[in-house]
Amino acid sequence: MEALFAVQEEDTNLRQLQHRHEHLPEAEHLAELKAAHAAQAAAQQNLAAECLESMQRQKRYEQEVAAVEARIADLDQKLYGGMITSPKDASSLGNEITLLKERQDDLEEKVLEYMEILEPLNEQLEEMNRTKEEQEKEIEQATAVFQKTEAELLDDKSAAEKRRDAAAEQTDPGLLARYEGLRRPFGASVIVHFDGHSCQGCPTTMPAMEADRFKGMDEGTMSDCNECGRLVVR
Ligand SMILES: [Zn+2]
Repeated sequence: MEALFAVQEEDTNLRQLQHRHEHLPEAEHLAELKAAHAAQAAAQQNLAAECLESMQRQKRYEQEVAAVEARIADLDQKLYGGMITSPKDASSLGNEITLLKERQDDLEEKVLEYMEILEPLNEQLEEMNRTKEEQEKEIEQATAVFQKTEAELLDDKSAAEKRRDAAAEQTDPGLLARYEGLRRPFGASVIVHFDGHSCQGCPTTMPAMEADRFKGMDEGTMSDCNECGRLVVR
């Protein structure tokens, strides 16, 4: 009978350990860190895409500037190389060069515009990278803390399981089966003591007749409580 009390105690213990395992604050903390990290990574990816697009635009304008510069150099060469003799041709060439230089100014302005856009974006991106790295370190630490706590808990669980098995082995199999069947309704108080006046499991005091029945029993013997249905040891 004492062995069954030990089984019940370990079952209660195991239930509490299981509950603790399912609600470890260390696990919750780790999940929060991971969620924050994922959000940061997504935001960073969006910003990186935005940066890349601006960089590509800047590059395209730079290439256009280079093309216009080359064209201007060509025309300069023609104009001042002594190949043009007609003043009319010289004037039209001069006009073309002027137009190209205006185009070059516009394009260079665009390049500057994108450089100005990119500067704060790149700074922001670096800042986000730093934050992400810090988060990764925190996750690493929190993972170690969680794993240590969980390992301790699992050790406690396996120790409790061993004690439970040992106690179950010393319990009469029929009694153990009855106990198992009553665990769902009664949980941690399937088997209880008679405290001299009443069954300890009864929500209210036992009726006098039922209490007298237990008082008449030998110390250490067991009977079902007719009031609540628990196993009661005199
Ligand atoms: Zn009872």
